[in-house]
Amino acid sequence: MKLKLAARKAESPGVESFIFHPEKPLVWKAGQFLHYVLNHSSTDDRGSDRWFTIASAPCENHVMITTRFDSKRSSTFKKKLKALKPGDTIEISDLDGDFLVSDARKEYVFIAGGIGITPFRAILKEAAHEGKLLRVTLLYANRKSVAAYKKEFEALSKRNPNLKIHYLFSPQRIDKETIKEFVPDLKKPLFYVSGPEPMVDAIGKMLQEIGIPKKRIKQDWFPGYPAE
Ligand SMILES: Cc1cc2nc3c(=O)[nH]c(=O)nc-3n(C[C@H](O)[C@H](O)[C@H](O)COP(=O)(O)OP(=O)(O)OC[C@H]3O[C@@H](n4cnc5c(N)ncnc54)[C@H](O)[C@@H]3O)c2cc1C
Repeated sequence: MKLKLAARKAESPGVESFIFHPEKPLVWKAGQFLHYVLNHSSTDDRGSDRWFTIASAPCENHVMITTRFDSKRSSTFKKKLKALKPGDTIEISDLDGDFLVSDARKEYVFIAGGIGITPFRAILKEAAHEGKLLRVTLLYANRKSVAAYKKEFEALSKRNPNLKIHYLFSPQRIDKETIKEFVPDLKKPLFYVSGPEPMVDAIGKMLQEIGIPKKRIKQDWFPGYPAE
């Protein structure tokens, strides 16, 4: 199936969203991802396809990709994506993913490294649309002092007093101390971790070291990026 580009939006320096309209209705759950193909000439060794989370919530009725562009060295795929104009198309397939919130009564800790914030945007937007006051502590780490979706998250936390958002800008980082500081009771919450692969692995390991059992940790790995 094809998606047609409707609009683009700068989210923060180097981070941009692409809003697409599907040619046929697409049904998905907040937190899922798609496979995308952008054929282009002189394709580098990373190829012409990628996986991206659907950063939009199903209630928004469009598919949004949010991604980071490397200022010095972008893949040919990202260059092609950056050159897309409204009306251009991208091929999608293989909707998948179980990085979902299925029980709104549970307590959650969402941990995002940079662009790993995309599934959390979808989940939080959809929950707000459904009137669910999810109990979430979001720890959102970024290298720079700016973060994508900040205004949208402010609006969401005004509507949901159970949503606590903590921004950690470099040199601050998510470590055992920050987890214990922002999550005083480690016994109950489910921990969802999303971001560059090395960061997600390191935080998963660290959570287990502070006593969180594997069954309370869910991870969403974004390959292709170095650690935040
Ligand atoms: C389930 C899933 C969901 C995902 N969701 C998202 C998402 O929502 N947003 C998102 O941005 N990504 C997401 N990703 C990751 C995405 O698929 C890409 O792997 C990622 O964006 C990196 O893109 P890129 O390979 O085009 O590299 P770039 O972003 O262009 O570059 C990333 C780094 O690799 C270096 N680099 C670039 N080209 C090369 C090359 N040819 N050889 C070696 N190094 C190179 C750059 O210098 C840079 O440091 C997801 C991945 C999965 C599996």
